Amino acid sequence: MSVWEAVTGQDDRLGPLKAAAVDDGAMTHAWLITGPPGSGRSVAATAFAAALECPDHGCGVCHSCETVLKGTHPDVTHVTTEQVQIKIDEVRHLVASASRLPGTGKWRIVIVEDADRMAENTTNVLLKSIEEPPSRTVWILCTPSPRDVLPTIRSRCRHVGLRIPSVEAVTRLLADRDGVDPEIARTSALAAQCHIGIARRLARDPAARERRDQALALATEARSVGTAVIAAGRLVDAAGQAAKTTNEERGEREKAELRQALGVEEGARVPAQIRSQLTALDKEIKGRTRRVLRDTLDRNLVDLLSYYRDVLVLQTRAGVQLINQSRARELAQAAETSSVAATLRRLDAIGQARTRLGMNVTPALAVEAMAVDLAYADTRPA
Ligand SMILES: [Zn+2]
Repeated sequence: MSVWEAVTGQDDRLGPLKAAAVDDGAMTHAWLITGPPGSGRSVAATAFAAALECPDHGCGVCHSCETVLKGTHPDVTHVTTEQVQIKIDEVRHLVASASRLPGTGKWRIVIVEDADRMAENTTNVLLKSIEEPPSRTVWILCTPSPRDVLPTIRSRCRHVGLRIPSVEAVTRLLADRDGVDPEIARTSALAAQCHIGIARRLARDPAARERRDQALALATEARSVGTAVIAAGRLVDAAGQAAKTTNEERGEREKAELRQALGVEEGARVPAQIRSQLTALDKEIKGRTRRVLRDTLDRNLVDLLSYYRDVLVLQTRAGVQLINQSRARELAQAAETSSVAATLRRLDAIGQARTRLGMNVTPALAVEAMAVDLAYADTRPA
């Protein structure tokens, strides 16, 4: 099976990558793969890396393909960050290792997921290597949109833009490859707005479907300042709890490993000389938890956006498919009892909350302010 088959619903977008994999003349040292979250940017980047290293241009079964896809190929580095930002030291280290010739493969490849999570001075470190690339090095940067990287970087990369895969493509993927019941597959694809990762989680995990319902419940629960604040608090708490469970166990394990490596017994006092290492790890774990919290909340807000988008579809009789089909009656009622202007104000309020979350405003404040705006959108003038 070709490595390209893992990239869902992008057949017409992969041309430049496929061409570069078979023909050195179509090759370039820096690539920018963009696409909305869930469109499969990193899947496409990994498939491309495999196709570049494989003697058969991505057969999907040889040792080379297998190790690239598994993330164990010695010449392919995959950079992901669980922090809010990629650190400058990390990028310096990458640039240094990228300058070496490949060991076993044809190319030394560095895939940077979330290349948009980089401060400007960090990007400048990267820029040097992209400007004067070592002869066998390939950079593959992934971001949501081309605007997410500095123009100086953008102008030096070949751009491949992925799109949101169709509902049919995602449904087929979930049903055929993951064996999900076709009806659940379709509902999940719709609810996830074709974000493949989220659709898969919704299809397989009833708890994920429950969290989504909870986010949508805010639309009906926020009716006054009091109920708005309560509903917002519940959403933020649930996101915090999800972030904690995801990270706590792993953080504890990492701390235990570090203590062991440093020779500090559990419960014993940590000598001052090595305390900084434990503090740094603590900070990293906290940073990771904050990011998961913000990402989870942002997902909740996107779900909520889909709710009002559906209300707007009904109010304007746009005749397009509802994202939340299972709530058709509730949506119809919401559409009838409010105006288009109010719905637009609500969509705005959610958008503003997402921006605030991105700007590091305290999550509780951002969500509370939004919930209050949702509650009063009908009574406030435009
Ligand atoms: Zn192969």
